Amino acid sequence: MPEPLLHLEESRSFNRDVLAYIQHAAETGLYEIRGLGAKRALPTFDDLVFLTASASRYPLEGYRETCATRTVLGARRARQPVELDIPITIAGMSFGALSANAKEAIGRAATDMGTSTTTGDGGMTEEERQASKWLVYQCLPSRYGFNPDDLRRADAIEIVIGQGAKPGGGGMLLGQKISPRVAAMRTLPEGIDQRSACRHPDWTGPDDLTIKINELRELTDWRVPIYVKMGATRVRDDVKLAVKAGADVVIIDGMQGGTAATQQVFIEHAGIPTLAALPLAVEALEDMGVADEVQLVISGGIRTGADVAKALALGADAVAIGQAVLMALGCNSPTWFDHGAAIDATPDYHALQTAPGYCHHCHTGRCPVGVTTQSPELELRLDPDHGARRLRNYLQVLTMELTTLARACGKSNVHHLEREDLVALTIEAAAMARVPLAGTNWIPGKPSL
Ligand code: SF4
Repeated sequence: MPEPLLHLEESRSFNRDVLAYIQHAAETGLYEIRGLGAKRALPTFDDLVFLTASASRYPLEGYRETCATRTVLGARRARQPVELDIPITIAGMSFGALSANAKEAIGRAATDMGTSTTTGDGGMTEEERQASKWLVYQCLPSRYGFNPDDLRRADAIEIVIGQGAKPGGGGMLLGQKISPRVAAMRTLPEGIDQRSACRHPDWTGPDDLTIKINELRELTDWRVPIYVKMGATRVRDDVKLAVKAGADVVIIDGMQGGTAATQQVFIEHAGIPTLAALPLAVEALEDMGVADEVQLVISGGIRTGADVAKALALGADAVAIGQAVLMALGCNSPTWFDHGAAIDATPDYHALQTAPGYCHHCHTGRCPVGVTTQSPELELRLDPDHGARRLRNYLQVLTMELTTLARACGKSNVHHLEREDLVALTIEAAAMARVPLAGTNWIPGKPSL
């Protein structure tokens, strides 16, 4: 008997992904929790291109003309601002979410490249303090691991109001990652799922934020800068309130930003894309007349030197990277290394019902490459030396790509990149980035030039 001919027409509304979601919800009564960032298609920096030099602009020669990358954050009030060699910083990722080896590797690579790294929800580890020349200490709603002595050992303080992956929501650390050391640092029981608070316990509005910033300044004798980090939602208002409260540096984390674990509904459906958030933040600083005093750091899905260059051209002073750091350390790689020998990690991905290239299972604590785990066995899969070397290489590539584009635009300093250097390939990107659509002088929403 010949097989009957199938006439398959998949519903666009109730496609296989939606079916799987509904059936999983129906079977388990549970929502999905996962790590990393948004997977849906969003407008990105890829939708912009540079108008590099030609007859009307002179490019700089890469082999004999320098292009400065030095970046100073927090000079507004702090006695010791953060002085970095590159405008690429490492975003906050907690010990607990990440292994101690991963934190150490990040600290070493950041120090070698002259940039900063950041603690995370769960406090400061001795490994990362020792490894990091510039260490930013986060003050989060949960206050897990928060310690005034560590605060005074930091080079900057970052008050986290929200994150791009889950603006308005708190993080999660599932019980399998609450090892004895993580439990001790967070004063939590071992092995029990933990949900971080989404609101700071000691303030209910912007006026309280002013008080908190002043407290932190007094605690650190006005030595270090105070950053305020927010997920990208009502960016213009939020930036203005943070600056009014006294922030030296504002960090805006777009919806492509990553997390170790949260509800998928947050990751995919809350916040606005990084590309849309950045111009709003710049406009807020310009409205207040503080664009030269308060630095803006943008994060959320920054991957390449081109992304960094475009972020700077749109008005950011620096970027922060998180997920890309994990990937440089080996996240989603098919192999891990044992004394230089490549070991196949594919079976471990399969045990998580995923595969290299598709993994978002940081929440499980069973990271096949040792980056986001507290398992003593799995953690050994990331050698801090090896991880630091890989991350350093990656940061070098980002910096070289950034300066390559800046020189091609005729700039001797990456901070001289400007919006006028960019055009957009789509109407959406043109409207969000406030740059003309390529081949036109049209910026949607603005009168023609
Ligand atoms: S490989 Fe590890 S770090 Fe990467 S997504 Fe999977 S669990 Fe997370």
